[in-house]
Amino acid sequence: MLDLTARELSAKILHGEITSVEATEGVFERIERIEPTVGAYISTFKDYALSRAADVDRRVAAGEQVGALAGVPVAVKDNMCMSTGATTCASKILENFRSPYDAHVVERLEAADAVIVGKTNMDEFAMGSSTENSGLKQTVNPWDATRVPGGSSGGSAAAVAARLCFGALGSDTGGSVRQPAGFCGVVGLKPTYGRVSRFGLVAYGSSLDQIGPLTFDVADAALMLNVIAGHDERDSTSVSNEIAAPCDYLEKLDEPLSGLKIAIVPEFNAGADSEVQNAVAAALEVYKGLGAELIEIRMPHFEYAIAAYYVIATAEASSNLARYDGVHYGHRTAAPADYVEVYSKSRAEGFGDEVKRRIMLGTYALSSGYYDAYYLRALKVRNLIRQDFTKAFEKADCIMMPVSPTTAFKVGEKTADPLQMYLADIYTIATNLSGVPGISVPCGQDSSGLPIGLQIMTPAFTEEKLLRIGRMFEKHTDHHTKKPDI
Ligand code: GLN
Repeated sequence: MLDLTARELSAKILHGEITSVEATEGVFERIERIEPTVGAYISTFKDYALSRAADVDRRVAAGEQVGALAGVPVAVKDNMCMSTGATTCASKILENFRSPYDAHVVERLEAADAVIVGKTNMDEFAMGSSTENSGLKQTVNPWDATRVPGGSSGGSAAAVAARLCFGALGSDTGGSVRQPAGFCGVVGLKPTYGRVSRFGLVAYGSSLDQIGPLTFDVADAALMLNVIAGHDERDSTSVSNEIAAPCDYLEKLDEPLSGLKIAIVPEFNAGADSEVQNAVAAALEVYKGLGAELIEIRMPHFEYAIAAYYVIATAEASSNLARYDGVHYGHRTAAPADYVEVYSKSRAEGFGDEVKRRIMLGTYALSSGYYDAYYLRALKVRNLIRQDFTKAFEKADCIMMPVSPTTAFKVGEKTADPLQMYLADIYTIATNLSGVPGISVPCGQDSSGLPIGLQIMTPAFTEEKLLRIGRMFEKHTDHHTKKPDI
């Protein structure tokens, strides 16, 4: 049963071949066995999940209408508010935070009758590329426990890859859905900025953050996007349905695109490890065999993406994280000598090193005298990167490149050098700066058997096309069916 996709499982539940309670119990049995090794979850809610599963089973048996994810056990990254359990952002500062409300995406999942089994581990406040910055626990890669699962949605990626749920949500500020999906051999979709409401997503870089699904295959990503996409007036950056009406992403999913034009940037591909390069080149050959045409382009400003991102993201983070001060939210220091210490000690005790580093960087970039030199300049670079995308999409339907320059690296390999860690997102960050959607699709394995991801990007609000392009590949290859031996 745990080898079924979410779509297959929901069909079986609907037809009465399997119950949601059986599926949920199956997931919890596996969690008991495998989770001590993987460490994907910060918390799980067995009783809550089983009672929701039983409710779905009762409604299916009574012939009542049920939602698109009826009875399917799923997981949610622990930076999305949920009124059940705690919402920690993997930070000591929020370790005991109980949200009084559900994030929009949690409401949507539950309205679609999904069964949320738990909240997944992540880099603290989504800052990182390996999940090693979690302030609460360690997650390892299900393909090789000496390696990282990627980050910051490493818990969600590991949970899906290890079959500890049938799909999960992550958030992607600079690559945090696509990169861990690539490292763990699952599909990861970052929708267009504005496509999915951020209401109830704990903010990191508000102009970059976007929630997306991590799934076994592209069809499941389409199914989950169907559930979570669409306008929400509680998020002022959520686009209205008149501008970008969400559609049924499953409807035309299996129709291949003819005359597909794929833009590639040869020097980017050449920057990746040779095994990654070879897998991406082989994937491009598959598309060529399906009638696609490859067009070489240049994206001259792409090389400045990491620099611009770490000014903009840290600036936004320094402002967003000001609310965790021991007064409004979060951990409060035990015996402060005065008011200043309430703030300073609470924050010093609650935040981890990487979060502190970023708050300091961002505060510096926004301070008087440096604002123009750093922050405004980064915004100008952001605009130039956006123009690179616009020009590329005048010539081609999509852009393809690796998800990351390497496969999953060793636990501890990059923790001493934050700059090395930042470079893990070299291929993913530009899409967040420009807002366009991107997907990571498994496209091979390296000589140690670690998964490799192909990244596909299309213009804003064309997820329907993006998913179809990804699906074309999946239908002609079997990389997405490979599973870790765990
Ligand atoms: N690794 C990047 C960062 O640390 C991206 C993280 C993310 O997408 N949340 O900021």
